[in-house]
Amino acid sequence: MLRAGPYPKDVSQCQGCGVDVVWMRTKRRKWIMANVMVVDNSDLRGPNAGEDRFKYGEHQSHFATCPEAGSFRRGSDDET
Ligand SMILES: [Zn+2]
Repeated sequence: MLRAGPYPKDVSQCQGCGVDVVWMRTKRRKWIMANVMVVDNSDLRGPNAGEDRFKYGEHQSHFATCPEAGSFRRGSDDET
């Protein structure tokens, strides 16, 4: 299935594990990394071009899947 995917300029790499992520804002104005390639959850999708608002139930928090999450998770209040 084709989808647009994020603009390359919006893609960053996780400081911990190096995978592609997009920084997005939650409705509480917190910055969160969203996985470009969704891991193990077909209900979720990666960010589209120009999209900057993180939506629970649509996007996947990288904190949820990052193998290095423990190193920067402290203080986070993501969906898990
Ligand atoms: Zn990571």
